[in-house]
Amino acid sequence: MNYYLKYRPQTIAELDLTFVREALTKALQAKSVPHAWLFCGPKGTGKTSSARIIAKAVNCDTKKDSPEPCNHCDNCRAITKGTAMDVLEIDAASNRGIDDIRELKDKINLAPTNLKYKVYIIDEVHMLTKEAFNALLKTLEEPPAHAIFILATTEPEKLPETVVSRCLVIKFAKALPAELIRSLKRVVKAEKLTVKDEALQLIAGAADGSFRDAVKALEYPSGLSVIKLDDWLAWLYQRRAKAALDWLQSAWNEGRRPKSILLAAIERLRRILLLRLGAGEAEDIAALIDPAIIKDLARRLIAAAGEIKDSAIEVLPLELAVADWCQSGPPPSAKTPAGKTGILSKWPQILEAVKPLNHSLEALLRATEPVGVENGFLLVRVYYQFHKDRLEEERYRAMIEQVASKILAAPVKIKFFLSAKLTPSHDADIIKTAEEVFGIEVND
Ligand SMILES: [Zn+2]
Repeated sequence: MNYYLKYRPQTIAELDLTFVREALTKALQAKSVPHAWLFCGPKGTGKTSSARIIAKAVNCDTKKDSPEPCNHCDNCRAITKGTAMDVLEIDAASNRGIDDIRELKDKINLAPTNLKYKVYIIDEVHMLTKEAFNALLKTLEEPPAHAIFILATTEPEKLPETVVSRCLVIKFAKALPAELIRSLKRVVKAEKLTVKDEALQLIAGAADGSFRDAVKALEYPSGLSVIKLDDWLAWLYQRRAKAALDWLQSAWNEGRRPKSILLAAIERLRRILLLRLGAGEAEDIAALIDPAIIKDLARRLIAAAGEIKDSAIEVLPLELAVADWCQSGPPPSAKTPAGKTGILSKWPQILEAVKPLNHSLEALLRATEPVGVENGFLLVRVYYQFHKDRLEEERYRAMIEQVASKILAAPVKIKFFLSAKLTPSHDADIIKTAEEVFGIEVND
């Protein structure tokens, strides 16, 4: 389903740009319709759509007060279908010759075949030769009453001033996110899609003013899964196995390939990690997460991506990775930065106090990492199972809790959990691996 073609604006109201809607409405409501228009602006900003809408508006058979075309009469339908003899679209990029314009000039005086106005839409008009411009200028100087010219260009500075001065100039700009969201909502409503406003904002923000790019994100049912990717990552982060596996199942049922899910997730994690490492702009989600957890998760997903091609059941490595991950540690601690900083800053002191009591215990603790406090437990990440077994021996645990309670002047309980070891020097490796994995998919 190509939503971009299906939802190409057919009325002034459907155009993305507020300024263009207002300018077209005003010009078409004027007593005499302008005979020469010049649309300037980047590709994909609606210049051609606007030109066709004008062609319909001036030729529409339905009597009404509004300047909008009805889109139902024979004239409107012929123009929409591209079969109207009197609406000529010339691509100056491929018809540069003076002959085309000369022919246009010769025939312009002939009355329209069926319509009220002959409409000439000349795209990329700056590509015309100097001679062709001169021929065009002669026509623009004295256009017959039945002719309308709509010139469009991405490079208006290349046009002779004599041509520009004859035209009603309308400047098209890249759509603002708010304008794109308005257009996306039109598609969402017509297609009865369910897309959160936050998701539309994300899409509009990433589309760089292009409705064509923005609407691509809505084109496939799986596009909606991509939008929900952050939800899925949030569930993984919270170690909510059921929610994460259910989502996976529904994405799989929608036809998404496990590898594409993994690659999208890895790319997203990579981005979050880069933001956390200070390589990008601040983003809310990045500020809330623990980079160590993200690195651990990314590494597991990368491993799962590598296992897919050898797996009898394509989705199995991903499901196993999700299940293992959710069981591999506690949910992240509730956000209590103040309390966390109170306790975590005392961790070196706790180690110092343990040292005289038991040297090897202190050495073991140095290989761990306190990550936060949850439900009264100090959560400590351990990187090896045998370390965890050792630290959980009752006498050691009691010793650590006793020392910690004394130093923090409050009763402390400790919970150890196992997590894959990743040191800061691995950051580059993870990003590199993620890029390599991502690169394979791009070339697939
Ligand atoms: Zn009509």
